[in-house]
Amino acid sequence: MEPKKNNGRETCGCSIPEKVNKRLKAGPAIVDVNGIKIGGNEVIIIAGPCAVESLDQLGKTAVAVKKEGGRILRGGAFKPRSSPYNFQGLGEEGLKLLRQISIETGLPVVTEIMDTRHIELVSRYADMLQVGSRNMHNYPLLKEVGMQKKPVLLKRGMMATIEEFLLAAEYILNQGNDQVVLCERGIRTFETSTRNTLDLSAVPMLKSLTHLPVIVDPSHGTGIRWMVPPMAKAAIAAGADGLIMEVHFNPGEALCDGQQSLTLNDFEKLMNDLRKVAEAVDRNIS
Ligand code: PEP
Ligand code: MN
Repeated sequence: MEPKKNNGRETCGCSIPEKVNKRLKAGPAIVDVNGIKIGGNEVIIIAGPCAVESLDQLGKTAVAVKKEGGRILRGGAFKPRSSPYNFQGLGEEGLKLLRQISIETGLPVVTEIMDTRHIELVSRYADMLQVGSRNMHNYPLLKEVGMQKKPVLLKRGMMATIEEFLLAAEYILNQGNDQVVLCERGIRTFETSTRNTLDLSAVPMLKSLTHLPVIVDPSHGTGIRWMVPPMAKAAIAAGADGLIMEVHFNPGEALCDGQQSLTLNDFEKLMNDLRKVAEAVDRNIS
C-alpha cells in the first residue's frame, strides 16, 4: 500500500488505508440492512440470543426485541466456541429459524459466517453477515464476504489494533463491498474481572478515521449481565451508531452466553434509558 498524504498518521499514529479512510470520502457511509439504515441519526439496536436454540426461544425473544424498538435480530447458527465440546449451533436449521422469525416479525437478521464454504448457504437466509472477532484476521473469509453483496458486520479481533481492524475492513471494501459496519467488542488486556476490556475509546477514534458506521457490543465486551446497561449507555454517549446485545427470554437456560444475556425485562428498561442518552447526544432510537 502506497503511503498517502494526510492518511491519518497525525491523528492516531497509524496508517489508514484508502478505502476506509474518511479523508478520502465525501460523506458518512450509510449501511442498509434490508431497509434499516446504520450510520444515520438513528442509533440502531441489534439484539437477540447468542445462539439460535429453538423456534420457541428465538420467537419469544424476537417479539420482545421488536416490541421494545430493536431494529435487527441477532442469533448465531454457526457458533465459534472455545471448547469443541460446547454447543456449536444448529447450523442450517438455525438459519431457517432465523429466516422464519424474520418473516414473522419483519426484523432483518444478522448471523455469523465462519467458513468460506458457507457463504452461499448463510447469504441465502441472512440479511447481514457477521465476521466474528476470531475471524477478523481470516483474510480469505474477508475477501469472500467482500465479493458478495450482503452488508457485513465486522467485529474487532480481540487482540487487534485499530490499524489492523481498519485493514481488515479494507480487505472487504477492496473486493467491492462497501457495506461494512465496524463493531468494538472488547479486547484482551491484563484485566481479568471482565471477560474483555471494552475499548470505548475505539469509538471516537474510529469515527475520526473512517466513514464506516461503528457499533458496540457491550455483551461480549464485559461478559457480565449487569454491566451491559451502563456500558451500552456509555457507548451511545461516546458516539456509537448502534449496539449489538445478547437478549434471551430465559438466560438461566441459555445454551451459550447466558451469564451476559439480558432478560426481556432488562432489555425493556434499558431501551427506555438508552432513548434518553441518545437524545442527550442529538441522536434518536426508534
Ligand atoms: C457473537 O457475537 O456471537 C460472538 C461470538 O462475538 P465475538 O466474535 O465478538 O466473540
Ligand atoms: Mn455470545
